[in-house]
Amino acid sequence: MKRLFSGVKPTGDLHLGNYLGAIKQWVEMQDGYEAIYGIVDYHAMTATYDPKELEEYVFKCCCNYLACGLDPEKSILMIQSQVPLHTELTWFLNCLTPVSWLERVPTFKDKVQQQADNINLGLLDYPVLMAADIIIYKAEVVPVGEDQLPHLELAREIIRRFTSQFGEVFPEPQAIMGKVRRIKGLDGSEKMGKSLNNCIYLYETKEEIWAKISKAVTDPARIKKSDPGNPDICNIFSLHKMLSTQEVQDKVVEGCRGATIGCIECKRWLTDAMDEELSPIREKYFYYMERPEEVSEIFTDGNKKAAALAEQTMQEVYGKIGLKYKFLGKR
Ligand code: SF4
Repeated sequence: MKRLFSGVKPTGDLHLGNYLGAIKQWVEMQDGYEAIYGIVDYHAMTATYDPKELEEYVFKCCCNYLACGLDPEKSILMIQSQVPLHTELTWFLNCLTPVSWLERVPTFKDKVQQQADNINLGLLDYPVLMAADIIIYKAEVVPVGEDQLPHLELAREIIRRFTSQFGEVFPEPQAIMGKVRRIKGLDGSEKMGKSLNNCIYLYETKEEIWAKISKAVTDPARIKKSDPGNPDICNIFSLHKMLSTQEVQDKVVEGCRGATIGCIECKRWLTDAMDEELSPIREKYFYYMERPEEVSEIFTDGNKKAAALAEQTMQEVYGKIGLKYKFLGKR
């Protein structure tokens, strides 16, 4: 089986966008790949953060991974900072990566705008750390969203540089584009995100989900029930396509185009489908939240397995880059 790496940055509670856009597919991929799923906490440090909150979010993220169905019997579940070799490999890769490559990365340009008061070196170096996260496990495939494709391409360029200078250690990872390219926010903005406050958190109750869905943006041309609508441009219908049965989707298309259903009715159906999908996750999430010892055991084991794989790779790297220092004995 091919090896796969992916991860989530713990900067808040996980939401529907994280689930539908990534974790749901990761769960399916566990049977076809030798998967490593990380909580990439070093990445959360490139913006100003509260240390207590970071610790809390990492724990919640662990609980969410398990609640969503990531299975420690099938995959390695780990926390990035608990395998510090990620940062050591990043240093070697830094020394191979021209600054101009990093300045071209579109997400860096976006971040510079978003956090103009904190343009730190980590922000620029983020894609190199991401490359290290992937290649330290010699991952051959990486499930990515559209916005991460430039990062993966950069990782491949760095590998080519490493290979031409020092020889072959790392395979070039291939992207697997998820079935779901992008989950729009409930406010109609391009991406569902914690910072934009336009998301449904995985722990939210049906009532809380309804409170948000009932206010969500729909087809702007549809003011009243008698106006025919266009489901193809409505985010509520996009979510129906991911969560509702075919029968409900057909009812929405027919009722919306024919102006026989109101948006409120349509949103009620979506809330039902969403709650059906999320309620088992919610239940398991609170189960794990109350059992930190169980969570700790699972992730400590995953961290050890990940560290052993990373160590194997780094031994090869030390040999290639001239850090074996045989005169000191076995490294
Ligand atoms: Fe959107 Fe449903 Fe309203 Fe049509 S009926 S505009 S799909 S919310």
